[in-house]
Amino acid sequence: MIYSTHLAAGVLAGFCVLGFGSPEPDTWPMLVGIAAAGSLIPDLDHGRSILQSIFERGVGTTSGKIPVAGRVVGYAGRTAVRGINRMFSRIVRHRGIMHSIMAVVVFTVLLKILWPGISPAGVQCFAAGYLSHILIDTLNPQGVPLLWPYRKKFSLPVFNITTGSFFERRVLFPILSALAGYVAFTGPVGTLLS
Ligand SMILES: [Zn+2]
Repeated sequence: MIYSTHLAAGVLAGFCVLGFGSPEPDTWPMLVGIAAAGSLIPDLDHGRSILQSIFERGVGTTSGKIPVAGRVVGYAGRTAVRGINRMFSRIVRHRGIMHSIMAVVVFTVLLKILWPGISPAGVQCFAAGYLSHILIDTLNPQGVPLLWPYRKKFSLPVFNITTGSFFERRVLFPILSALAGYVAFTGPVGTLLS
């Protein structure tokens, strides 16, 4: 699926976690952001992922403000990120291990190790966001190896939504976005406003 669909599902997953837990309202934007980021991680196995584009643009904007040296560092940074992403995608293959329950566990543990101070709600949001990506990809006929290393790919053929199709852009994405809004306003945001 395209990244905007995954982002909408990730935000929805984040608001669902906020609804179940009771984290401080001032942490909500960050928590939903963590869920959204988690929802984009699985497609790092793609040779040209949206996270790579975001990073490249960030490097470009920052380095562009510093003359000459900034541009050299920016170019080197972009080339390095592109190279790493390409190499990574060749090792793990698109829609491989990164799209499995195993990866949800591994990346969540990795996040906790790299960010020891992250709150339990942050960990839950990340895992929920990551999981949302995998579940959304089961709506695609290509399927995902949910139970990797068992290589069978799981999909819900009843939906058969191809990536970037009219149905995905005009039906699935709006539904997920509306659901995210509904969950937010009937849950945590609504509680805060009332
Ligand atoms: Zn994917």
